[in-house]
Amino acid sequence: MQPLPRNVKSTKSRLDTINQTQSHLLVPSEKLDKVTRRVIAPYAQIERKGLKEEEDKAGRYLDMSRFNVFLEDTVDLESLLYETAMVLKNVTDSTGVFVYIVDKLRNEIVLMHPDTVNPDRHEVNMTIREGKTAAAHVAYTKEFLLLEDVQHDRRFSEGLRWIDAKVALCMPVIKPDGDCYAVLELYRTNPKIYDDNVVYTVLSVACWAGAAVHQAQERVTLQKTGHLNSELRALLQNYFCDLASIDTMLTDMLAVVKSFIGAMRSSFYIIDKDHISEMMQADMWDDGWSSDRNTMPKKKLKVNLSLEQTPAGYVARTGESLNVRDAYKDPRFAKEIEPTTGTVVRSCLVSPITDKNGVIGVVQLTNKTTAQPFDADDEKVFAVFVSYCSLIVHFYNMQQKKIFHDNLNHVFCELMSLHMKPCRHDMDDLLESSGVIMPPINFKSFDYHISDSSKEDMPGLLCIMFTETFTNRNFDRLAVADFLLSTLCSYRQNPYHNAEHAFCFTHTMYLILLNNPGYFDFNETAALMLAGLCHDLDHPGYNNNFLTLCKHPLASMYRTSMLENHHYFLAKKIIEDKKILSRLPISDQQRILEEIKYNILCTDLAVYFQIRAQLTPLLAERVFDWTENSHRRMLKGILMTTSDLSGCCKPFGIAKAIAESVYEEFYAQGDRERAMGYTPLSMMDRRRSINQPAEQIQFLSVVVLPCLLMLQNVFPNTSPLTDNCRSYNIFRYGPVQMKTQEAWHEEIEIRGHKLWRQQESLPDGKNSRFLSGETKSDTHESSAN
Ligand SMILES: [Zn+2]
Repeated sequence: MQPLPRNVKSTKSRLDTINQTQSHLLVPSEKLDKVTRRVIAPYAQIERKGLKEEEDKAGRYLDMSRFNVFLEDTVDLESLLYETAMVLKNVTDSTGVFVYIVDKLRNEIVLMHPDTVNPDRHEVNMTIREGKTAAAHVAYTKEFLLLEDVQHDRRFSEGLRWIDAKVALCMPVIKPDGDCYAVLELYRTNPKIYDDNVVYTVLSVACWAGAAVHQAQERVTLQKTGHLNSELRALLQNYFCDLASIDTMLTDMLAVVKSFIGAMRSSFYIIDKDHISEMMQADMWDDGWSSDRNTMPKKKLKVNLSLEQTPAGYVARTGESLNVRDAYKDPRFAKEIEPTTGTVVRSCLVSPITDKNGVIGVVQLTNKTTAQPFDADDEKVFAVFVSYCSLIVHFYNMQQKKIFHDNLNHVFCELMSLHMKPCRHDMDDLLESSGVIMPPINFKSFDYHISDSSKEDMPGLLCIMFTETFTNRNFDRLAVADFLLSTLCSYRQNPYHNAEHAFCFTHTMYLILLNNPGYFDFNETAALMLAGLCHDLDHPGYNNNFLTLCKHPLASMYRTSMLENHHYFLAKKIIEDKKILSRLPISDQQRILEEIKYNILCTDLAVYFQIRAQLTPLLAERVFDWTENSHRRMLKGILMTTSDLSGCCKPFGIAKAIAESVYEEFYAQGDRERAMGYTPLSMMDRRRSINQPAEQIQFLSVVVLPCLLMLQNVFPNTSPLTDNCRSYNIFRYGPVQMKTQEAWHEEIEIRGHKLWRQQESLPDGKNSRFLSGETKSDTHESSAN
């Protein structure tokens, strides 16, 4: 709703009648001197006599229906007070009455003319002070005054100023907050003194008038601020939904406050807190002199508020609000004239925008549309607006920070790409050797493991595995080589979570896919292989629990599976940077990325336990269905976990070395936890390393074997993995071919410790085929994955 301009008087038509009948009360222009006024006074008197009857009628009573203006937005209090004064004049047998309205800003009283439509033309002012004139004196003291002999009263050298009265009663209209709103000056040209009854009557009417004026003003202000609040709230709601730009926010919000208060121009300053110098730099938005609501305020970068001889500069420096009546004449400010239109900066309402550290911005409204100065009511409405401004400034600062960090991130990404660029020799070697390199004899066995001496073959072997599974069609050899080398060098040199682990994972995945063709489509196969190689990218050597414990940034970026999310983030980055999928249709690229994300998140053992709980009954009841997407997804999860844990399924010597590297990493974390004042878990506590073999047996039974058995149920040819893990067929091969789990038991015997007290409480290898998902996961969540 658009508020009406203040000068539109709803009571105009009713007043017209009164105006006509009382034109003789017109006060002569202030240019007339005292003598002239005295000369014309009798004529005014004559006119008055002729109109007496009609005038009496109009002035004796107040039309009760007039009071419903109190319900309107723009109640014309001054006219109502004038009418009340006319009634008082008649009931007190006065010759006449003057009504003065107090202008607090100017410290003046203004003689009110009944023609309120255009009050400026007849504006006559007197400075509020003691002595001189009775009305100005009463406005100053705020106490009524009874003048028994006006012409000889020494206190007031100018008498009533306009008329030679004999006696006068000067009554202030005081509001409950103590402000003087108006002064009523009743006078008689005869010497009959006002008696007590008259004084009491006028006093009580003035008291009521003061209360009524106050209530009406408060109600109008409240209504206005209420409207402003709801408009601004509605705007803010949109901003929070859409993340609007600062320009849009300022355009909308400044337009609203401009129209509510009736200002010609608005300016907004946000102080640059990052600018380190004595100077107060600010970003400034200004909409110029246009009254068009849709004008976008123009941003003018970096205004120096320390030097600006403007109201805004003053407010920024002092932190005080300003209501300037005429900046043009104010010696504190430089004269501001708009060069094209010649508009002069006159009145302005300026407020600092603050937070607990001081001024963060300034907002200014300039030149009221009515050519009047801004009043107390405007100040109140403006204060409401300013409270919203700190939100805008805060929003802007956050947005600037975000833009800065986005750019910074971009710079870091460029730097990262530079460091990930494989060296040319490696690229050349790989491109030459790919397809030519001879894989080791047992390469297609689950027992194969990359040896320390053949680590440099990893890129070439990966090339073979990728080609045999999915990159034989529609892939750029150069991009694949670049991708493989970049991925391998994005692994840290951890004891366990390193490039060799990623290679081992990919190798197991490769064998399972190779031995079971036709179950997964091209996209699924590509995603499983890529997820395999990328599943632990940039692993820091600590688990998710530790990241939470030390408040690592990753812990606040993701709610669960922080590491796995980070591995996927990097996988996506490298895949996109190296354009390995770029020859595939966009839909396939998207599908592969989605699959990779799912697969990598499945390597969180917490996710594995959830999948196991759901998949176990499906397999036990033989209702696993390849056409059911959710079933396939669960199986892919199990494939990922199997490959991740496949280090445990190697021949015992290799499995033991891998387990030791896991422990090395665990102990490093345990050491750090202890240094931070925590007690590490048993398996991370190097003081309890004696438990290693027992813990391994437990881990194999509770975590690894159930996983392998589920996979074997679907793909029987993965049984060598299970066999390696188990102990029951030890007798088939004899002690030389000792399998992993039994070997760990042997390990306990060798070390001479009978430590595993929980052994009896867990099912043995034979019965652990389908362990339920409820198995205590907390003990193992931190195990290698
Ligand atoms: Zn892993």
